[in-house]
Amino acid sequence: MSSNSYSFFNDVNSYVDKAAKFTKHPPGLIEQIKQCNCVLHVSFPLRVKKGKFEVIEAYRVHHSHHKAPVKGGIRYSMMVNEDEVKALAALMSYKCALVNVPFGGAKGGVKIDPSKYTVEQLERITRRFTSELIKRNSIGPAVDVPAPDYGTGPREMAWIADTYMAFNAGQINALGCVTGKPLSQHGIRGRTEATGRGVYFGIRETVDGYEDMQKLGLYPGLEDKRVIIQGFGNVGYYAALNLQQNGATIIGIAEYDGVIFNPDGIDVQAVHQHRIDTGSILQCEGCKTIKNGHDLLEYECDILVPAALENQITRTNAPKIKAKIIAEAANGPITAEAENILLKRGVFIIPDLYLNAGGVTVSYFEWLKNISRVSFGKINKRYNELNNEMMVSAIEDASDTNLTYKQRTQLIKGAGEIELVDSGLEGVMVNAFREISEIKKERNVGDLRTAAFVNSLEKIAVSYLELGVFP
Ligand code: NAD
Repeated sequence: MSSNSYSFFNDVNSYVDKAAKFTKHPPGLIEQIKQCNCVLHVSFPLRVKKGKFEVIEAYRVHHSHHKAPVKGGIRYSMMVNEDEVKALAALMSYKCALVNVPFGGAKGGVKIDPSKYTVEQLERITRRFTSELIKRNSIGPAVDVPAPDYGTGPREMAWIADTYMAFNAGQINALGCVTGKPLSQHGIRGRTEATGRGVYFGIRETVDGYEDMQKLGLYPGLEDKRVIIQGFGNVGYYAALNLQQNGATIIGIAEYDGVIFNPDGIDVQAVHQHRIDTGSILQCEGCKTIKNGHDLLEYECDILVPAALENQITRTNAPKIKAKIIAEAANGPITAEAENILLKRGVFIIPDLYLNAGGVTVSYFEWLKNISRVSFGKINKRYNELNNEMMVSAIEDASDTNLTYKQRTQLIKGAGEIELVDSGLEGVMVNAFREISEIKKERNVGDLRTAAFVNSLEKIAVSYLELGVFP
């Protein structure tokens, strides 16, 4: 679906320009906000077998230094190029500002197809890329904190952390150099599922809005919503699972090798298990399989969730999309040209910079845990439980009633790490949705993406102004 002239970074900047018209900031300041502050492109060798080498290309882009550290995932994909990494880094700045996470935006990419390498080769690539970043002071808990993205996960983050610590012995906050680590390496409960869970919270907030649903001819709530998902990786799987567990019906899932479909509903967990067992979602029991079918995005449904990569809905297929809501779980799945077509057709778009912000939100919690060197709930959980127990007993005595064992346990239970992370994530997603909905309404902005960019621009602009850069 890629075309040579397409620039993801230009698309992101076109959204900024559109949003800037709803703010009062000078053009020079908006121009500074749009630029990437630093672009790093490195090449290094990988010995694939005796006497045979490959050159690996990798990027790390810092979009905005208005806050430190900068933060953003590292992706492994053959589609990685400078334009893509710049666009993704820029989106990170706007995303962090939107959800009030105090980081500047960054992104990294290694141009490889991870399925073509052994685990040992992937480890060498990851460790070498990390050392390239260390050499240039481009990684560290106060400088730049990577995270997982497309094609990477906790395993790669553990390799990054280990390499960084080997070069920085004695640095007490060293583990905060990367997030999305496995729990055994001081990751945080809830990070793996955070982006998909945040996608669910964002969709839930949207479909609970009476006015917007009425305009779309839909009832509020998730219960009667038919959903199609593109990309069944980390974000797609957890988004689908949470949507299904909360009443929506997943009717189709698209992967790179084909699609599965069932108008009565797909069992998301069963598909996940089937993929673990067979390596593919295709031929899953109870679903119709269409091998190499790529037009699932155009099927009839209420909510379409692109959760794979950018540039999936273009001017070519936008007129054929039948979904009433498109929930951008991936970064940049709709091109700016396609968005104009969709908005004219009345499609409601929940933008990426809001919808997939759950990942960076919980990454922020992990970074806080690492630099404070204590897990959430460790100090106060038992104390709260004892207090709750005394309160429940006092109420039972005063009212001369006995609660059931289940009621008592529920009321007494103190919050541990997972409960605090999940409620923190939900709070962030709900508040951000309120902020952008208010901007959309009060400034008559028209669409949620522009409202989200207005929100972020206002916050980043204030940072620059307070730094005295634009007196
Ligand atoms: P992933 O690698 O875990 O999963 C992506 C899935 O999409 C894979 O299963 C892949 O096979 C599939 N896919 C690739 N091309 C496809 C196509 N053309 N059609 C259908 N399926 C296709 O990656 P992820 O971490 O889930 O990331 C997905 C998107 O979400 C990316 O845009 C990423 O930038 C964004 N995102 C991820 C996170 C995170 O925490 N992982 C956070 C924010 C945003």
